[in-house]
Amino acid sequence: MADKTIDQTRKFTEMVAKKQGWELTADEAFYDDLVTGLTTNWNRHGYFLCPCRDSEGSREADADVICPCVYAKADIEEFGHCFCALYCSKGFAASGKKPTGIPERRGGS
Ligand code: SF4
Repeated sequence: MADKTIDQTRKFTEMVAKKQGWELTADEAFYDDLVTGLTTNWNRHGYFLCPCRDSEGSREADADVICPCVYAKADIEEFGHCFCALYCSKGFAASGKKPTGIPERRGGS
């Protein structure tokens, strides 16, 4: 699996946001941290493991938390942003609110 550059990961997040109708966090330093985390995870695991979660040890076990995770849609609908707050709804972005800690939907870990 070829390594990803930060720039490739940025483009990936932009593509996901566009496809899903989400916005990326407006906090640039925070965004850079998350993109760095995603890039590190790709280069370590071979997939975009969520930068806010730990690996369960395999791609199969982590399938629910490969970005964009299966919980993102529900979290964005309910709280305005995903667990990491990388992605948010257009409404949340327009509100200027700061993301807050939200409950982890991932069960059993
Ligand atoms: S919480 Fe956000 S950053 Fe983490 S995998 Fe889900 S969508 Fe990606």
